Amino acid sequence: MTSPPEQQLRAYVDYLRDMGIYDLYRRDNPSAILTEELRTKLAAQVAPTLAPAPAAKAPAARPAPPVSSKPVPAPAKYDFAEAAPPPLPPELAAPMPKPVSFDALVPLPSLAVPSAERAAALQAVRDRIGDCTRCPLAYAGRRNIVFADGDPNARLMFVGEGPGADEDASGVPFVGKAGQLLNNMIAAMGLKREEVYIANIVKCRPPANRTPEYAEATTCSQFLIEQIDIVRPEVIVALGATAATYLLGVRQPLSSLRGVWHSSRGAKVAVTYHPAFLLRDPRQKGEAWKDLQRVMAEMGLKPPPKA
Ligand code: URA
Repeated sequence: MTSPPEQQLRAYVDYLRDMGIYDLYRRDNPSAILTEELRTKLAAQVAPTLAPAPAAKAPAARPAPPVSSKPVPAPAKYDFAEAAPPPLPPELAAPMPKPVSFDALVPLPSLAVPSAERAAALQAVRDRIGDCTRCPLAYAGRRNIVFADGDPNARLMFVGEGPGADEDASGVPFVGKAGQLLNNMIAAMGLKREEVYIANIVKCRPPANRTPEYAEATTCSQFLIEQIDIVRPEVIVALGATAATYLLGVRQPLSSLRGVWHSSRGAKVAVTYHPAFLLRDPRQKGEAWKDLQRVMAEMGLKPPPKA
């Protein structure tokens, strides 16, 4: 079954963002990335909006203009490659502001929450979030606020981007297909899902699984910062470009962030591919495994014995 052109384009843009590519420029021939079928479909959608508006009725009293003897040029043939898109409203066209790292947003707390009080402290954060309406995602069809899952005393924390359809329906992060792959990654590290802590940059599902907007991510970050400060993991694994961008306050290709240690809220941060990206490009699973092996070495974890 083929998905509509908009969804295919969205998936392509998401793919590029997973790779850490944000600035997309219009090519000479923007339709070159499209298949012939998609180009035809898109041209059919765009063409009616480019058709000239119906001529306004001439006032009755005005005399008809004199008929020119000059030949009238034939209207230019519609050409998709040359068609100028309608300009975006300025707030949408503006480039994404430079993200601010979690460390620069809020000072680190001087005192750790005692282990026995962490579950209650996290619940207090969840209660404060309430039925949140702090950002536009509250009005974009969200069903559940997806707070987090796992051990309040975890040594290892995974941070994803934002809930998808399955997470929105269940209220639990990473339970869909990407979640199943994340479970396998955790098991390969010799851990159980219940032993780690899993959260996302945004707690509400962005419509059609689009990447969270800057305002949505930064509004929600205050709660993730509190969660990290309560759990105090030794290591955080940033899953994909969005998690890395906001945790670290950088906009760089994922390839330049992988393979080196970063830091956030007193934890060591490793950056790896998002499981949803790995589902789209399974050839990169080996690379992700290398990232996880570095985490295991750092934490002294051993892979489970082979069955
Ligand atoms: N993708 C994410 O980034 N987070 C989830 O919870 C599910 C899918």
